[in-house]
Amino acid sequence: MPAKGLDVHIPSPGGCRWCGVEERQHMQRWKPPVGWHTWEPPTLEQRKERMQARRARQRPDGQALSAAIIPLAS
Ligand SMILES: [Zn+2]
Repeated sequence: MPAKGLDVHIPSPGGCRWCGVEERQHMQRWKPPVGWHTWEPPTLEQRKERMQARRARQRPDGQALSAAIIPLAS
């Protein structure tokens, strides 16, 4: 089980456009609203969104953010 906690809900950028599963693991899946389907390439938009979501999640718990927000505190 690839449960790394943070990115479990973010599909891989090349994952199926309907369910986010990668092509080699896909076979047939059921997922509303499409029902049973085979792997289809994600749209460019989806790839971008997924990559952005991954990048956002990769930041260590807001540390980078707060460090950037409070640099003038002293
Ligand atoms: Zn799928």
